Amino acid sequence: MTPKFRRQDYEVVVVGGGVMGLFTAYHLSRHLDPERILVVDRGFLSSGASGRNGGGVRQQWETVPTVRLAKEAVEAYRRFPLEFGYNPWFRQGGYLFLAFSAEEEERLRRVDAAVRSEGLRLEWLSTPEILRRVPALDPERIVGGSYLRSDGVIFPFPVLWGLYRTLQRAGVEVAMRTEVLGFEQGDGAVRAVKTSAGSVRTSKVVNAAGGWSRDVGALAGLSMPNTPTRHEILATEPLKPFLDPMIVTLRRGVYFSQSMRGEVIGGLSLAHPSGPAGGMPSSLEFLREFAKELVALVPRLAQVRVLRSWAGFYDDTPDGLPVLGEDPRLLGFFQANGFGGHGFMLAPAAGPRVAQMVLGRTTDLDPAMFAPERFLRQAGGRAVEGIQLG
Ligand SMILES: Cc1cc2nc3c(=O)[nH]c(=O)nc-3n(C[C@H](O)[C@H](O)[C@H](O)COP(=O)(O)OP(=O)(O)OC[C@H]3O[C@@H](n4cnc5c(N)ncnc54)[C@H](O)[C@@H]3O)c2cc1C
Repeated sequence: MTPKFRRQDYEVVVVGGGVMGLFTAYHLSRHLDPERILVVDRGFLSSGASGRNGGGVRQQWETVPTVRLAKEAVEAYRRFPLEFGYNPWFRQGGYLFLAFSAEEEERLRRVDAAVRSEGLRLEWLSTPEILRRVPALDPERIVGGSYLRSDGVIFPFPVLWGLYRTLQRAGVEVAMRTEVLGFEQGDGAVRAVKTSAGSVRTSKVVNAAGGWSRDVGALAGLSMPNTPTRHEILATEPLKPFLDPMIVTLRRGVYFSQSMRGEVIGGLSLAHPSGPAGGMPSSLEFLREFAKELVALVPRLAQVRVLRSWAGFYDDTPDGLPVLGEDPRLLGFFQANGFGGHGFMLAPAAGPRVAQMVLGRTTDLDPAMFAPERFLRQAGGRAVEGIQLG
């Protein structure tokens, strides 16, 4: 087979051309010779979760370091049009979490504490205040809600396209339709990456394969605790603007927003069997369950037609936090995965940090929370960051 790569050796090979791999490559390209960076993806641009998500960008989290990353990501997305020359229509209409019980209210008030400690102003809204903001909501059982005005929604595709074009212009090689099949190792370190288009030598690999990162880890002989879980989402026909914030419920992980084209876009969590083997089909069960939840919250949507529905993988971890850093079992193998349902909103802040790690620099990330080591000390783990939805 004729190798399709421009070179035989690269300083870094990024596996996965989703939002995480592309942001990491972008930040690497600012410090390394861009022509010595290779991104490989076996699909097409946006074929992974990065082209299948709800575009939610929120800073309401239970853990302070996650709030910090999300706050930085919001700033990065605000700068995106200037920095990358593409407008991803980042609309900061806020995120409104609805509470239906005293327990949920208490949980959201904990989020409030984390958010405020990072200097953001979260508002606790009473039910009448919620209705003033979103008159279409049925107030039945709502006891209040937390609202952060600077949260918002973004169109994923211009983000991916802007990153891709910027990398190409800089001279970074992005090879789509190219599958990573294995790794050569020697003396406990990465030596080469074997792909469907031939092998390339490198001493640094970034595993940004999203829902398939566990499989890519296995190709290097590394077991990982990540669990890919299928999540479904849909878009309705366009409607006149009636909804400014993204609406979220903790119960069942329901979320929905209205895009700038007028479609209502949203999903909820269903207990699908884990693992990528079953592919990404849409189910009637999802349509039925989501329609029930949506209409209970916004009765006027009962007659609205669904335009399309689709699915993708969350890459879940036992503690709900991403895995970022060099894997101590294999020198030069960096993990950049485990983003669950929030990789799109964290990638602009996680990408530069992974790039720093690849360059051998320290970052402000607490290794106890984010490094791969945390799962090597103990099997499994308990949820630390619990709000796992878009
Ligand atoms: C329905 C749904 C809704 C979501 N909503 C939100 C939201 O509102 N906000 C938010 O922030 N996040 C959301 N997410 C999560 C978010 O989409 C992901 O966390 C994020 O896109 C992950 O990006 P990534 O680059 O790590 O992975 P991906 O975008 O999945 O990219 C991984 C890439 O790796 C490639 N790959 C895999 N194996 C190989 C191999 N062997 N060789 C080469 N390439 C390989 C794949 O082809 C893929 O392109 C949602 C996800 C889903 C499914």
